Parts: sequence; C-alpha cells; structure tokens
Amino acid sequence: MPQTDYDILIIGGGMVGASLAVALAPLPLRVGLIEAVEFESSAQPSYDDRTVALSYGSRRIFESLGVWDRLEARGATAIRRIHISDRGHFGFARLDASEASVEALGYVVENRVLGKALKPMLTETKNLTVICPATVEDVTFTDSAASVMFRRDGKLETLSARLVVAADGGFSPVRNKVGIETQRTEYHQTALTTNVTPEQPHHNVAYERFTSSGPLAFLPMSENRCAVVWSLSPEKAEALQALDAVQFLAALQEQFGTRLGRLLKVGKRATYPLALTKVSEHIRPRLVLIGNAAHTVHPVAGQGFNLGLRDVAVLAQILNEAQRDGRDIGELAVLEGYSGWRKRDNLAISAFTDGLVRTFSNDLTPVSFLRNLGLVAVDLFPPAKRMLLRLSMGLAGRLPRLARGLPL
Ligand SMILES: Cc1cc2nc3c(=O)[nH]c(=O)nc-3n(C[C@H](O)[C@H](O)[C@H](O)COP(=O)(O)OP(=O)(O)OC[C@H]3O[C@@H](n4cnc5c(N)ncnc54)[C@H](O)[C@@H]3O)c2cc1C
Repeated sequence: MPQTDYDILIIGGGMVGASLAVALAPLPLRVGLIEAVEFESSAQPSYDDRTVALSYGSRRIFESLGVWDRLEARGATAIRRIHISDRGHFGFARLDASEASVEALGYVVENRVLGKALKPMLTETKNLTVICPATVEDVTFTDSAASVMFRRDGKLETLSARLVVAADGGFSPVRNKVGIETQRTEYHQTALTTNVTPEQPHHNVAYERFTSSGPLAFLPMSENRCAVVWSLSPEKAEALQALDAVQFLAALQEQFGTRLGRLLKVGKRATYPLALTKVSEHIRPRLVLIGNAAHTVHPVAGQGFNLGLRDVAVLAQILNEAQRDGRDIGELAVLEGYSGWRKRDNLAISAFTDGLVRTFSNDLTPVSFLRNLGLVAVDLFPPAKRMLLRLSMGLAGRLPRLARGLPL
C-alpha cells in the first residue's frame, strides 16, 4: 500500500461533510476536509439563512458526536406536535411527542447555528485538517489511491488519499467529474423560505399545510418566530418575492389562516429550485457519495439533511470497523457494506417525500378524497400513525451505533 497524504479526504464541508469530519475525529485516521466557501461567509451555500428540522434520530446522532449541547445552547427549538392539513378539505392528522414517548418529535435549528457549532469542532481536532477556502477541480484514481486536485489562493495543489468522500452538494462536481449517471427530476416548484413572528405563541407546534399552490410549512423557532418553507410554482415564488413585507404577510396569512393570529413581522426571503435527484452509483473503489451529492429530496417533510446525517453515521461506523480489522478503507468490499445498508432508507425517504408532493399536488376529486381519508386514517389508526412517526423521526430500519446513542 503506497503512503498517501491522508487516509480520507472529504470534499465539501457543508452540513453533511462537516458532520462526517466530526464523526471521524476520534478515530486513528488522518482526515482532510476541503471546502470552497468559508464557513462564516454570507455566500456559504450550506450554512445560509435557512433552518433545518432535525429529526429525533438526528438529535441522538448529534448527542453521540457531542454537537447537541452546542445546538441546544444556541436555541434549538423543540417540535412537540405536528399538525398536517389539506387546505379547503376535511382531512387532517396530528402527531404528538407524547404518543411516541419522547420529549420532542424533532428540533428546529438555524443552518448558520449548525455551522457555528460544527466549525470549532473541526479545528479542535489534531488528526483533522481543514483546507478552506479551496475548490476541488479534479479527482483521479489508481488501484491503491485517489488523487485530488484543488485550487487554493489561485494555485493548483494535489493531495492523495486512500478514500475520497464526495459531500459536495446536489450538483456534486466530483460526481460529475467521475461520470456517475444522475437522474434529476424537476418538481417545477421553488421553495420560498423566510421566518415570521406571529401574534400568538406557537407552543412548539409545526404545521404542514397542503395548499393548492403547494406545501406550506410553519416550524417553531426561538423568540416565538416560525420558519416558513413555502413550495410554489417558480412564477408565483417570483411574484411573492417582489412584494413588500406587508403585502407578503397578507398573502402568506391568506394561505396559512389565523391559527397563530396575525402574522406581524417577516425576515429575509430566499428561494431554492426543487428537484428529486437519484444517482446510479453511491460508491466506486476509493470513492463514496454522501448527503445531497448522493440524493436530493423535496423539503416537504424536512428529511434531506436527516437522511444525509444517517449516511454519516453509517459510513463512520463502517470505516471504523474496517480500520480496526486492518482492512483497506477504500476497497470496494468495505464500501459495499455502506451502500447496501443505506439503500433501503434512501429509497423509503425518496418515495415518501415524492409521494406526498405528487398526491397533494393533484386536484382530481377522487385523489383529494383519498388523500384526506389517508390523513384521517393516520389520525385515528394507531399502527398507521406509529409507522409515520418512526419514519419522520428517523428511527425506521436498522440504526447505526451513533443513532442508538452509542460511541462508534
Ligand atoms: C428550502 C429547503 C429547506 C430544507 N429543509 C430541511 C429540513 O427541514 N430538514 C432536513 O433534514 N433537510 C432540509 N433540507 C435539505 C438540506 O438543506 C440538505 O439536505 C443539506 O443542505 C445537504 O447538505 P450537504 O452538506 O450534503 O450539501 P450542501 O449543503 O449543498 O453543502 C455542500 C458543500 O460542498 C461545498 N462544495 C461544493 N463544490 C465544492 C468543490 N468543488 N470544492 C470544495 N467544496 C465544494 C459547498 O461550498 C458546500 O459547503 C432543506 C432543503 C431546502 C432547499
């Protein structure tokens, strides 16, 4: 085995790549992380003004990694109840933390807060090197090593590793460079995100409201704010972006209703085009794709990052076991242990979120009748509710050690 600069090079220090670096930090492995945009920069695409709804399972992973206390101290807000409704129809469903015997179904955290929690943990670790800002331009492979070429301060540099992990987002330059086939299905929807302050207390309730223009989520945040994720046609999103604050709040109020009283204040607005992305291969010899580089899903049920964090927990466990057993961490047989384990969860979450969007975007009377029956069934039929709870809490299927609250 030739000597390499690193054992593992992670490309992309967004929410998923940085979480993996933190997970690998206690292991006797030399890890490098290459990130294009500084963590605190306003241009950072991962740690931006959005919020992320962390599932209960993600809280457990972050607890195992020592990240959770830092999020809690910075205002992570519990979701104690979820109220799902179909605007203008009879169906609704309620999910309650007490039914799952947990303190909260999930937590809302600002993406920037997640960046502030993860960043110092990356620099505190001896066997972890952060190379930032630096942009990866090429990746090549031999049987025994990967070679990563990146640009830093205008100059090209090259580093070698036994394994490259692509955590470089939905348009993954690494994935494109190596020619992994990608199937991108546009939703022809844009997510408009912002936060609002309602007149009445949110009481830690999250609302998922399916409207004729698309799903609208209100998630409880600190200081009695609600994070809003409103999925709309691109034209409608553009029109709403052009409104002033008062007009925008009136349009939002019209769709959301008066459950929280009047909407008083609105924060910065941003938009994101939405697509379902599937890739033909998650691994190759000396290469693994994780997070959005491996899959993007509609934000309707707040699952994308949670799915990526479970990639992290499984990959860290597989790599730990391989290095402990003296195996080559970049060999295909090791990486197959990872991709085989992740397949089911990935398919389930893609199908669940895609199914939700398609069923609730259909105005045909029989479809809307059936989906409302479905909501009522979830509300009244305990096994259906339990299944939905386990899936949305990130507790379905075989759980890795970190998600069970155990160290690697
Ligand atoms: C509107 C919206 C709301 C969402 N809400 C939720 C939610 O509530 N819950 C949830 O679980 N998920 C949610 N998601 C999904 C979540 O945002 C993503 O799953 C998550 O950002 C994926 O993280 P990532 O690290 O894989 O990719 P990214 O966040 O895209 O990060 C990729 C990183 O790679 C870096 N990079 C890219 N190219 C290079 C290169 N060539 N060299 C070096 N670095 C590079 C980038 O700078 C970036 O930092 C939401 C998504 C959207 C759009």
